[in-house]
Amino acid sequence: TETNQSSSETQEDVEEEINWSQVADVPSYVPYLLIGGGVASLEAFKAIKTKEPNAKVLMVGDEDYIPYDRTSLSKEYLVKRFWMNEDNKEMERKDTENMDWITMSKGLYMEAKKLPYSDRGGLGILKGRKVLSLDVTNKTVTLDNGSTIRFDKCLIATGGKPKNDTVLSVAEDEVKNRTTLFRNYDDLNRLNESIKKCQSVAVIGGGFLGSELSIDLLYKGVNTNLQVYQIFPEKGNMAKVLPDYLSEWITNKMKRVGVDVITETRLEAAQFEDGKVSLKLSNGKVITVDHVVVAVGIQPNTDLADSAQLELDDKYGGFRVNTELQARSDIWAAGDCACFYDAKLGRRRVEHQDHAMITGRLAGFNMAGEKNAYTHQSMFWSTIPGVNEYEAVGLSDSRLQTFSVFRKKYPSEDDSKKDVEPSEDSNKSTKDSLQSKQESTKNNSDKDLSMCSLEDDYNYGIIFYLRNNEVVGIVLWNLLGYSSVSDRLNIARQVIASGVKDQDLTEVAKLFNIYAK
Ligand code: FAD
Ligand code: NAD
Repeated sequence: TETNQSSSETQEDVEEEINWSQVADVPSYVPYLLIGGGVASLEAFKAIKTKEPNAKVLMVGDEDYIPYDRTSLSKEYLVKRFWMNEDNKEMERKDTENMDWITMSKGLYMEAKKLPYSDRGGLGILKGRKVLSLDVTNKTVTLDNGSTIRFDKCLIATGGKPKNDTVLSVAEDEVKNRTTLFRNYDDLNRLNESIKKCQSVAVIGGGFLGSELSIDLLYKGVNTNLQVYQIFPEKGNMAKVLPDYLSEWITNKMKRVGVDVITETRLEAAQFEDGKVSLKLSNGKVITVDHVVVAVGIQPNTDLADSAQLELDDKYGGFRVNTELQARSDIWAAGDCACFYDAKLGRRRVEHQDHAMITGRLAGFNMAGEKNAYTHQSMFWSTIPGVNEYEAVGLSDSRLQTFSVFRKKYPSEDDSKKDVEPSEDSNKSTKDSLQSKQESTKNNSDKDLSMCSLEDDYNYGIIFYLRNNEVVGIVLWNLLGYSSVSDRLNIARQVIASGVKDQDLTEVAKLFNIYAK
């Protein structure tokens, strides 16, 4: 219920008069409701607040925390490395024991019960509460404690949950107890506890998470000689994103750094034997490990679709929304759980942080009365410390045809990365030349590798992804840390937006100035 406040009373006066213990924890009505406590919701709030400074917004999230930077969870070693002693043994700062290193916009939130009484509005938060059903006709939600909330406008930003491997999902409890599905801060803490007692761990999955976590675990266990296996069905790491030769290049680097990468292999059986998990692999081998981490993708959290009678996308999964991110009147969806219409590139669902932020923001503005379409391409990045890093804009799907342009090393260039290079021949490098490589659609047996004329020196470069000869995606390869990263991302956005087609991509690559440091 909204409160009436006389003009002479201040907000503080009103708050002092209220006996908060008598006020229900869950407001019965809010103008704006955000379902999900991730970055998409947080950005939606900020956009609503920009348009409507006194807006009252309630965020309901089923984790016990305020929004935090999920992306750091698989780069924990990288983030905390700066806090380590020189011998890399002990953490120096107490912050490692709490969440300060990842929490977002601390200080922005108020207790949900106070929101109806705040004349300046704000962001009320209900933590540890799940929305169980959504009635879009009567505009109400029901929570897991039985309370209902009426709303005017609602955003669904429920993210995704990790899939399990089919073998592990039916394994005996002793195996399940030694298996981590990794998505949130609690999973990280549980994994860190388990790892302390481990000599070996198997990471299942060769995508972003599996590849980042394998390295993270390797570094974390460096003093205990933790053996890290990584097992997946593709030929190389991140094979769904990168062309074959780059996927293979990364895989070789992962191996050199110390991960035991087992490619083109699936799990066939898992059982508990002599205090360890024994994994039978499709390549005929059996490995025994103390712990298993599963990173085989996510499925969007769409449980609310049933009660809300919202359409899910058959191909990409997720709530189907239009280009304004609207699912129905007064209902929007954003982030990992939304399958949206990109007027330039077609229907998509994206599982990356910047996308969650951009779509959260767009939905927020539209909830507050705008009618903006999705036009600004989001980016994503991937960082595997000591191995590789890249950023991407648009469609980066390895099934598309690719054309890549790499910078050759300066003759004098002998950076620290050299010790993990698979092959080097600096004598062949010249300062002012680029090398290019083209790879056709994977399913096409008639691969055209005619442009692959130079040695495999893939240290820094640009990868173009082509659909019907038009550039629809761009990866900036190892250019993070060099100047103008954001400029290069903007150039990438312009190249995609302007529909560069049938052009000499070696020339287009020059726009990115990949020699600039
Ligand atoms: P989420 O962050 O998943 O937030 C949704 C929240 O809603 C969750 O807390 C969920 O529990 C909650 N929720 C779900 N259903 C309900 C319900 N019914 N009621 C209440 N609450 C509910 N992306 C990058 O671009 N770069 C990276 O380097 C990168 N690293 C990553 C590392 C890890 C370990 C992980 C897991 C992801 C990473 N990502 C990265 C992906 C990125 O974190 C996600 O794309 C982003 O978090 C999506 O934000 P979101 O708000 O849509 O969903
Ligand atoms: P993903 O979709 O990137 O990769 C899934 C991988 O699972 C595939 O590459 C494949 O190797 C593997 N796989 C599928 N079925 C398998 C099976 N039965 N056995 C073995 N391997 C199997 O998903 P992810 O790597 O699990 O990441 C989870 C989520 O977190 C995704 O949404 C991802 O985008 C996000 N994430 C993003 C980043 C980043 O952007 N840098 C980093 C970490 C996580």
